[in-house]
Amino acid sequence: MKSLESVKSPGCELIRVVEGIWYALPQGHQKGNPCTVISGYIHGNEQVGKAMLALKQQIEDGQFYPQEPLLLIHGNPQATAQNSRYCENDLNRCFGLVANPNTLEAKRAHQIKQVLIEYAPKIKQHIDLHNSILPAPQMLITPWKELPTEGEMLQQTLLFMNRLKIKTLVYGSGFYGQNGQYTDFDCYTHHQHGANSATLEWGQLGTNHTEKVIEGLKQTLLNSPKLLEASANEIEVWDAYQAIFKQEDSFQYAHSGYGNFEPLTEGEIIATQANDIWTANSGDHLLFPNPNVAVGQRAGIFMRRVGLQDIMQAAKVA
Ligand SMILES: [Zn+2]
Repeated sequence: MKSLESVKSPGCELIRVVEGIWYALPQGHQKGNPCTVISGYIHGNEQVGKAMLALKQQIEDGQFYPQEPLLLIHGNPQATAQNSRYCENDLNRCFGLVANPNTLEAKRAHQIKQVLIEYAPKIKQHIDLHNSILPAPQMLITPWKELPTEGEMLQQTLLFMNRLKIKTLVYGSGFYGQNGQYTDFDCYTHHQHGANSATLEWGQLGTNHTEKVIEGLKQTLLNSPKLLEASANEIEVWDAYQAIFKQEDSFQYAHSGYGNFEPLTEGEIIATQANDIWTANSGDHLLFPNPNVAVGQRAGIFMRRVGLQDIMQAAKVA
């Protein structure tokens, strides 16, 4: 792949690989070395993506450079130009099998995958920046189907949360497609490039405070010493264990007012479509309820709190 252009500042070269993708190569490193990936605007209108662009600008201006190679990705520039979530279909559902490979988003996902193969075959950490449609706490969502049994990945995750002062961690198989396959970008980098990946949900659309995100990302890229021990005690952990898939146009939620982290009552009917009914189990809460997704897509996720003991045990480095 022939890159478009490159800017050299003392200590770091910034290469514009294709439209909206930049590769920062600090002095003494080789292209293809283990790197960090930071992506934003996978959903074109989610303004926390500005943090990724700010980092790119600081590197270009010679104000900052990472200690190790860094790939910065503006996911969907066309959708950002229209201030919309996507143009033809949701880019964050295009990283597994796609029904139509000819949509703008399917082609962009393919292009991003090609760039990763060439520039970022080994990814240490991938942070994908998002805002939520409905109000939600700032949270980190990982593609772990279960809590990791080795401590390093969990410790790195807790440290990242500590740097951004995030108290909510969500994981679970509910973020996967109907057949258990991945569709989302962070799941893709986790499974295909060995990355410790996460989606950073930085509150609802329209929230504009990105300074803390930029600072937290910079500390991560500089491998800043741990100022505080990551404390699992303060963290709320949720297992998003089951997705609700919209299979027909008749899909609807029992109430239009369901929000994120909505507590549900055991036996309560949550959603219906032609021949299906979803009812809540004991302890269930709802995440990302959205009846307006395309048929075949995830319309929400059931999740439940996980005891801190589980995460404390998993966090122990073997
Ligand atoms: Zn998003």
